[in-house]
Amino acid sequence: METICAISTPLGISGIGIIRLSGEKTYKIIEEIFLPKRKTKVKNWPTHTVHYGYIVDGERIIDEVLVTIMRAPKSYTREDMAEIGCHGGLSALKEVLNLCIKKGAKLASPGEFTKRAFLNGRIDLSQAESVLEIINSQTEKSLEISIKKLKGSLSNEINKLYEKIFSLLVQIEGKIDFPEEEDISEINLNVEEEIKKIKTQIKEILSKSKNGKIVFEGIKAAIIGRTNVGKSSLLNKLLKEERAIVTEIPGTTRDILQETINIKGIPVKIIDTAGIRKTKGKIEKMGVKKALYWMEKAEINLLVLDGSQALNQNDRKLLQKIKNKTYLIVINKIDLPMKINKEELKNFPEENISYISAKTGYGIEKLEEKIYNLILKGYGNIKETEFYLNIRQENLLKKSYSIIKNTLKLCKEKQGIELIAQNLREIIKMIDSITGKNISQHILEEIFSQFCIGK
Ligand code: GDP
Repeated sequence: METICAISTPLGISGIGIIRLSGEKTYKIIEEIFLPKRKTKVKNWPTHTVHYGYIVDGERIIDEVLVTIMRAPKSYTREDMAEIGCHGGLSALKEVLNLCIKKGAKLASPGEFTKRAFLNGRIDLSQAESVLEIINSQTEKSLEISIKKLKGSLSNEINKLYEKIFSLLVQIEGKIDFPEEEDISEINLNVEEEIKKIKTQIKEILSKSKNGKIVFEGIKAAIIGRTNVGKSSLLNKLLKEERAIVTEIPGTTRDILQETINIKGIPVKIIDTAGIRKTKGKIEKMGVKKALYWMEKAEINLLVLDGSQALNQNDRKLLQKIKNKTYLIVINKIDLPMKINKEELKNFPEENISYISAKTGYGIEKLEEKIYNLILKGYGNIKETEFYLNIRQENLLKKSYSIIKNTLKLCKEKQGIELIAQNLREIIKMIDSITGKNISQHILEEIFSQFCIGK
């Protein structure tokens, strides 16, 4: 395989920038472009050591760097690798990169380092995919789950499942080849038991990942309410930074902003909608329409009311609409005298009402707690999530589950074991697709194209 190189840190001004190399020619290239302070030969450097010096193009010094080497097979890709830690800044990095290319390396394609780790057998495909999930993690919780997956939490379960199916298949195929050895009805009985166990195993994997989707992809929450009740102020408080523009003029929040807040490890995508009210302004009208749209789309609705004013028609309309949704009523501005007649809210359970002041921050923590409880109510215990299945993995497992269910039916109907064996082979194919043992080049390309260059 060719030696590849790439800039592995974000492009732009930064403290340091790293160029990665992987492949047979790595140390030959380093030897040619690196002038170590201590005049030692690269071939004599032990693995996992760091060396200080200069990158040079002939006589010209390009950058002062630290070179780390990791020899095969103890490296990310299992190939000979080096990382050149340059000073941040694009021009030096680009020059060093070009120099590596001039000396015989090829620019890596997206995810090519990870792809090599997979192709060289260091990790399976589900682990390679978890690398992507680590990169894209938004909260500590999702990071924790993806790291577990990289360490093999999913692969272990999948391998256990594989072994179980494989051993049953071997037994069945034995019976197909030598049918006279045992009474067929006795075999069927055992097979049925085994198939049941496999079914449970697949179900368990699916249920262990049940809430992974929420941990990774988050849920959508809309902040709704008429103009000037304090929606943007609330969003700011939740974000703990000034993002949406807050003004005293009614109707200034025109755009639908989307920001993500982290509520106990769950990314909650907050949609700040334009105040819902009748307006003449064209842009504003669009915002209102979008707000209603988001109210439908959101999984959780936070209806903000201005506690310092009596409820008006718009508030009542929204209260009416929110009833059959998953919601919290957020009574804001409680730093001012309360003017809402509580009688009007008597049909709403107290646990669905939060009292806050977006101005002083009073009640925000409690509100977050309530949002979290609302999520738990809807989705069950997120803490139990052991891994996250991406759509590809989930589809393969769901298909396997439906095949195994069918197989169980075949057993019960005392159908031929050839059919059962065929189904098991089908499931093995799906499992091989998850681990990457047997996967088309096309799907592989698609998976790795989601990575960034240098990973
Ligand atoms: P929106 O139109 O619903 O997004 O409302 P804004 O967040 O723009 O707030 C409208 C006005 O109410 C602004 O002047 C805010 O400073 C003020 N405001 C928001 N929250 C509070 C609060 O808790 N207490 C008080 N006293 N004023 C608030």
